[in-house]
Amino acid sequence: MIRLAIQKSGRLSEDSLLLMRECGISFQQSAGKLKAEARNFPIEFLFLRDDDIPQYVANGTADLGIVGENVIVETNETVDWVDKLGFGKCRLALAIARDATYKSIADLNGTKIATSYPRILKNYLQRHNIKAHIHEISGSVEIAPSIGLAQAICDIVSSGSTLLSNGLKEVDTVMHSEAILIATPSLSQAKKEILEQLRFRIQSVRKAQEYKYILMNVPNHAINQISQILPVLKSPTILPLAMEGWSSLHSVVREEEFWRVISQLKEAGAEGILVIPIERMIV
Ligand code: ATP
Ligand code: ZN
Repeated sequence: MIRLAIQKSGRLSEDSLLLMRECGISFQQSAGKLKAEARNFPIEFLFLRDDDIPQYVANGTADLGIVGENVIVETNETVDWVDKLGFGKCRLALAIARDATYKSIADLNGTKIATSYPRILKNYLQRHNIKAHIHEISGSVEIAPSIGLAQAICDIVSSGSTLLSNGLKEVDTVMHSEAILIATPSLSQAKKEILEQLRFRIQSVRKAQEYKYILMNVPNHAINQISQILPVLKSPTILPLAMEGWSSLHSVVREEEFWRVISQLKEAGAEGILVIPIERMIV
């Protein structure tokens, strides 16, 4: 049995649980309970505040954790970084009042900067030779400039709309972050094997999300041309249609590449194109 810590309620919770379900792991999460055991995989979940996850994983209370890179770096706990998970994407950015002037990071010299990430900010300022006063606050960082608490802030941004609605503008990126699977450095051999099974499932789910299964009807004379346009995984499957002179072409294609060649496919004579999601992909 391996123990995975995930965020109890917050921006990473839903995607973390969804990823486990997509990995075919089923469990019941009752409201208010801090632990849940899976029915069909040797895993148990601990539901925690995200800030506590690195510490629980570092000291082995949890074997694994899913948490933002920003939190791992800020807490500075010793954990193994296993895999990035592709969700919870955001950046830690510096922002100032919209009407303040800003030419370069040197303008932050002598200012007061409010943040919930004092360690990351301190390192960043040191790297850029900036001397500023770091004012640590735990939440609602974005109102600090308008109430005169600080001239700048360093906070998590994803779309930037919160900054905008607080009269701020982003001036610099301190770090990029996404959710990541971490592990305690002293995993037993038995737990390492469970981790490898879990990683295998996660990778097949993530791979499947990148690709689509596509089907299209093509006139026989265009099969070669269309096969060359399609950036397929191996080689397409061609099945004859009941209608003389036409075939059905099936293939697995990276979704973004499919959209890039869609107009070429239509020009070459492809019709009735279907794009179908793939549940798991093992290559
Ligand atoms: P907790 O109650 O667990 O301490 P929290 O309020 O500290 O939660 P959330 O706001 O739920 O944390 O964010 C969790 C993580 O989600 C962040 O540390 C970050 O990695 C990621 N994230 C992604 N997009 C955003 C965003 N727009 N704002 C804040 N965090 C984001
Ligand atoms: Zn938190």
